[in-house]
Amino acid sequence: MPSTATDAITTLKTLWGQISDLSSATSLLHWDMEIMMPVKGANARASQLSTLSELIHQKMTHPDLQAALSDAQNQLDSLSREDKALVRELTRSVEQATKLPSKLVAKEAELTTKAHHIWVDARKNKDFKAFAPILSEIVALNKEKAECFGYSGTPYNALLDLFEPGLTVTELDGLFGQLKPALIELVSAIENSTADTSFPFLNNTFDADKQWAFSERVLRDMGYDFEAGRLDKAPHPFCTNFGIHDVRLTTRVYENDVFSALFSSMHEGGHGLVEQGANPAFERTPLTGASMGIHESQSRMWENLVGRSKAFWTFYHPHLQAMFPEQLKHVSLDQLYAAVNRSQPSYIRVESDEVTYNLHIILRYELEKALMTGELAVADLPDAWNRKMHDFLGITPHDDAQGVLQDVHWSGGMIGYFPTYTLGNLYSAQFFNTAKKELGNLDEQISQGKLTGLKQWLNKAIHLDGQVDLPRDIVKRVTGEAPNSAYFLDYLWDKYSPIYGLTRP
Ligand code: ZN
Repeated sequence: MPSTATDAITTLKTLWGQISDLSSATSLLHWDMEIMMPVKGANARASQLSTLSELIHQKMTHPDLQAALSDAQNQLDSLSREDKALVRELTRSVEQATKLPSKLVAKEAELTTKAHHIWVDARKNKDFKAFAPILSEIVALNKEKAECFGYSGTPYNALLDLFEPGLTVTELDGLFGQLKPALIELVSAIENSTADTSFPFLNNTFDADKQWAFSERVLRDMGYDFEAGRLDKAPHPFCTNFGIHDVRLTTRVYENDVFSALFSSMHEGGHGLVEQGANPAFERTPLTGASMGIHESQSRMWENLVGRSKAFWTFYHPHLQAMFPEQLKHVSLDQLYAAVNRSQPSYIRVESDEVTYNLHIILRYELEKALMTGELAVADLPDAWNRKMHDFLGITPHDDAQGVLQDVHWSGGMIGYFPTYTLGNLYSAQFFNTAKKELGNLDEQISQGKLTGLKQWLNKAIHLDGQVDLPRDIVKRVTGEAPNSAYFLDYLWDKYSPIYGLTRP
């Protein structure tokens, strides 16, 4: 007897709840591996993770889940907005887990494990030729995956959709087509500026414990809940969560860099607020959290639009100064503000500033797109990379480690991920503009160290509704406009014109 729509939803939530628990356990084991695990624990951990992933796969492909899902799909019209979204997201996850033949899944696991080691050596030896053969296999495998998932237009669309639901080349070509020339123009205006960008105070040493305390303080001010989270040290900053009330952050501290720990904590804290801010009714469903692009919009907003703003430093400058009186006593607010917003073309994406960053991403996007259509051969990647670096940023890498080999993503099989970083930046400026309009005095609040006004606005406007809407629709719902690059460009010009003495053309 066919079940009612409510029955189907209850069954789905129960079955998915178990998958969600197993996924959380997996994430916790990964967190532990990065933060706590002794080296000799690696082998046992690998088998624990493999058992969990097998259990997850069994449950994802179980006939009971399939049956409940098709019951719900057949009665979609009688479902609430949230339950419709639940069915959409579960269908998506189940399809992603089941559309690939197990042979292909195994091949991907094997290929990427091998590729990672080859990439590490190739980067060390600055030798792209050593990495090229396995990268060709990864590109071919991604083309096969696209065929399995299905797509309209180009196969690259199938990959983009894995990371940002509904994202297409057509949409990205539109967004990036406007953004690219405008950024190149701004980068060259900054390059030609005569502003003094040497900040000798940055060369001081800054005690790690004090930096840690400062980062924690700012996280508290942002409204990050330490009773539902924690901050730990790790070589790579990240945010992970095992439910709404256990959202963990990591960061790293460099004594020769007073800003690194702070900005990476604010970045990860921005991710953390998304997870802590989800509707408790969505716990153990795929409706908590956000897409990659929306997630990144929150982290980048806290890191850059808040953390690198004049308003922020108006409040925190004296506090940082009091913490490091020797190093900062003669440093004015304006000098500090200019120092955190220094912009300069550089080779390495993760070290780049907010003006040049998106050109690094657009470069990767154009190359991935050409690889997927076959217009570009893997062997020609280094030349294509270096040419674009020159055209976009006016610099040419000296070797492949500084160029095409710098990122880990392709060795991990991730093609289609990079664009979500830039989407995040575009969304962040668009959301922030709306927040300013709706809150009326956001700058004033921030300059008084009151950061929770923004946090509460983001909770209500974005976090609480989680992934009920698709990313593009979230931007439209919150800002009244489709995603576009205008707000981000306005933001950059408004900020960098006074710092570098520029006039916008
Ligand atoms: Zn991030």
